[in-house]
Amino acid sequence: MVSAKRRATTLRDATREAAKEVLEANLELVRRGLVLYTFENVNGISRSDGLVAIKPSCVPYESMKAGDIVITDLTGHIVEGSLRPSSDLATHLELYKAFPSIGGVSHTHSEFATSWAQARKPIPCFGTTHADYFHGAVPVTDAMSSEAIASDYEKNTGSAIIRTFDDLDYEKVPGVLVANHGPFTCGCGRSCTQRGNSGTRSACCLPYDCN
Ligand SMILES: [Zn+2]
Repeated sequence: MVSAKRRATTLRDATREAAKEVLEANLELVRRGLVLYTFENVNGISRSDGLVAIKPSCVPYESMKAGDIVITDLTGHIVEGSLRPSSDLATHLELYKAFPSIGGVSHTHSEFATSWAQARKPIPCFGTTHADYFHGAVPVTDAMSSEAIASDYEKNTGSAIIRTFDDLDYEKVPGVLVANHGPFTCGCGRSCTQRGNSGTRSACCLPYDCN
């Protein structure tokens, strides 16, 4: 039987590893030119531990360290870390609960994709990279009501995304435009890094696909 101390050590090792992978996935957003100030983020989930590693709020990417990455449970309760998690956490938690095979979520405000989101139009499939990733148009959510925006915007953003996938396979369509906001993408790879990067790469495709 595994002792509580051994379990705690294993969990600490796992969260440290997840934090490093999530930091690297966030820095990849910077390298891809998808970051404006500190508004974007990538996070990852360990399904076996029920823990999410997410970027802290308002910390510049150039000084961000693995120790700054916040670890929460699936209710958003902070398990490890002293900083405030990104305000997008509530959206991402909804997605993790609704889509059981996703391992990472990425959110950016890349200019081209955000233009389509603000216009509330799906992005038609014009190119092969787009087709490889999305197998069709990049969908757009319904516009949220004033009540949904005013009451619990981030959580209701998650609900709007989930409703969009009522008629779509989330494993084949790895992202969506949130109407009047921007793109959110998900990844289903095996390791946390692959999952985070998969989501990131999908986000990277979006601006070029709507060029
Ligand atoms: Zn945003």
